[in-house]
Amino acid sequence: MQPKKNIVHLPVYQPGKPMEEVKRELGLTEVIKLASNENPFGCSEKAKEAIAAEIANTSIYPDGGAVQLTEALAKQLGVEPNQIIFGAGSDEVILMIARAFFEAGDETVMASHTFPQYKHNAEIEGAVCIEVPLKDGTHDLDAMLAAITERTKVVWICNPNNPTGTMVTHDQVAEFMDKVPSHVLVVLDEAYAEYNMTSEYPDVFQLLSTYKNLISLRTFSKIYGLASLRIGYGVGHPEVIRSINQVREPFNTSRYGQAAALAAIHDRSFINRCREVNAAGIRYLTEQFERMGLSFYPAHGNFIMVEVGRPAAEVFNGLLRQGFIVRGGHQLDFPTKIRVTVGSQEQNEKFIQALEQVLSEVAAEV
Ligand SMILES: *Cc1c(COP(=O)(O)O)cnc(C)c1O
Repeated sequence: MQPKKNIVHLPVYQPGKPMEEVKRELGLTEVIKLASNENPFGCSEKAKEAIAAEIANTSIYPDGGAVQLTEALAKQLGVEPNQIIFGAGSDEVILMIARAFFEAGDETVMASHTFPQYKHNAEIEGAVCIEVPLKDGTHDLDAMLAAITERTKVVWICNPNNPTGTMVTHDQVAEFMDKVPSHVLVVLDEAYAEYNMTSEYPDVFQLLSTYKNLISLRTFSKIYGLASLRIGYGVGHPEVIRSINQVREPFNTSRYGQAAALAAIHDRSFINRCREVNAAGIRYLTEQFERMGLSFYPAHGNFIMVEVGRPAAEVFNGLLRQGFIVRGGHQLDFPTKIRVTVGSQEQNEKFIQALEQVLSEVAAEV
């Protein structure tokens, strides 16, 4: 047996340690996970009710086309139903884009560093990844444009960028789209779009009315708090959506995911509350970082990448002993930074206390 050459070098995804294991190993009674940008307030009560009601239908296959959800979402977003495709998380939409668009030897352009799934799926399909360094933690759109060749099939823009949290603006994306050749599909991964508080954030629906070669990826895993149900979507031109639909598995999203998402999009007050509390959390955390003399990237999602001036692994382990799981930059190629998810105000305050304690114990790098 011989798997295909493209995958031989790929690592198997290493999940973070389960909370229960961390508690047992370190003898902690409480562990706060600020590592995966999950919603600290869970999900809408309406979504929970919808999930409970769906239990009766567990033996029945879901509607593969997610017709009811697609229609409701299209109405809310002001697009046509044939402009939307659902996936098992936006991760699966990324996978389907790679599967639908790449042939061996095609090129694809992305930032370094950004969300790892673009590269992962492109490599599985045999595409060549051209990685363009971030500038001050932000996508360098001019350099990405210069990296496009006639072999380029897809360009990935993660906005805000995971793991740095920075954003590119509407005007920057519009200018970029004006210059990108029409044979290139531009993927705007907007997993944190609903957290946005600035008018400069791209209005992707306006851009979609001008550019056929653009797709926005959204998810129910982040602000909607439905990560375990694996449901996300892409919005783009009907032709692009059709191509992706051709490679979609027949029943790729679950009844629970669809029902919860349908209820969740109608509970705007939950989303508005989460957005506001998150913005206050970012203000609090960044003020505290400033007080502590720590620099950070401007945060536009529900997480912040902060420079701790010390080996990230040591700070990560110190925080773990205090009962906090964050994302250590040592695993992301940011050796002296950590990425922390914005929690509830109580969690944020406890986190700052723990961080101060850890930074007093770990020697600063000179
Ligand atoms: C979390 C995340 C996703 C994917 O989330 P799903 O749970 O697969 O919907 C996609 N892109 C970015 C940048 C993310 O942070």
